[in-house]
Amino acid sequence: MSEHDAPIVSLRDVHVRFGRGASVRAVDGVDLEVRRGEVLALVGESGCGKTTLIRSIIGLEPVASGSIEVDGHAVTRDARSLRRLRRRVQMIFQDPTGALDPRHTIHEAVAEGLRIHRVPGDEAALVADALARAGLRPPERYVRRFPHELSGGQRQRVLIAAAMALDPAVLLADEPVASLDASIRGEVLALMRSFVDDHGVSIVAVTHDLGLAWNIADRVAVMYLGRIVEVGPTEEVLATPRHPYTRALLSVVPETRRLEQQILHGETPDPSRIPSGCRFHPRCPVVASGEAARLGIEARCRGEDPTLTERAPGHTAACHL
Ligand code: SF4
Repeated sequence: MSEHDAPIVSLRDVHVRFGRGASVRAVDGVDLEVRRGEVLALVGESGCGKTTLIRSIIGLEPVASGSIEVDGHAVTRDARSLRRLRRRVQMIFQDPTGALDPRHTIHEAVAEGLRIHRVPGDEAALVADALARAGLRPPERYVRRFPHELSGGQRQRVLIAAAMALDPAVLLADEPVASLDASIRGEVLALMRSFVDDHGVSIVAVTHDLGLAWNIADRVAVMYLGRIVEVGPTEEVLATPRHPYTRALLSVVPETRRLEQQILHGETPDPSRIPSGCRFHPRCPVVASGEAARLGIEARCRGEDPTLTERAPGHTAACHL
């Protein structure tokens, strides 16, 4: 494998735990790779561990066991390596209003990272270039303004400009358009896609919305109760989902209504009480409908934890079916 083919981010059996006695298994054995120049959508219900997982990539959550590498360097708690990591990996949060200091001008918001990382060059020119690349043109119109003078979509573009000004290899985006009006979501997603296509950056977009995955992602990883249960090329996963949980998620997306709608029953997933066997079995429609019993796999569903196995080239799922 050439250096260029090596994944930009790789996670091996990553566990992140919280709470008393580390009883909350927020991330519970994740193996995942992010390729160079791809958009990977990390999809799942809220509370499935996806935000914790991307925070661990940037060193914001201590990993209980397993390993994370970014561009061949292990992510550790060491101050020097964290500093390098935080330039190579940038994070964009869901709420652009909360992420911007209301007392700072747009120039200062974008310049802050440049100063922290001592990026050489003319600061005003670097800020103007970043704003223009994020679609805030002409940049002179924005630099002296304050966050409250901009729309939600413009504020999200300022955060994207601040991240891209540092020329990162990876952009981690936590529900990047969830707080925006539907009318401007497409524009912001197209902007993010352009950074991948024009600058080769890799994006991990955390979302509960499979429609977003459909719009910009090259690959989709589906997460359930701390574990990746299916991963593969977007069209494949969305057209031929192999895991019953992915099928249930897809059945409620308007664009994919050809699947029979499946409402998930059973207890709300609780990462402090992960079921034995397949962690999805208490809610799995295949078990509830009796199909698992008919197929003779019910005992395995209840007692044996399935691992990710390949179902088609590059498409894996963790299910006994
Ligand atoms: Fe459902 Fe069994 Fe597959 Fe788990 S292993 S998703 S319980 S069919």
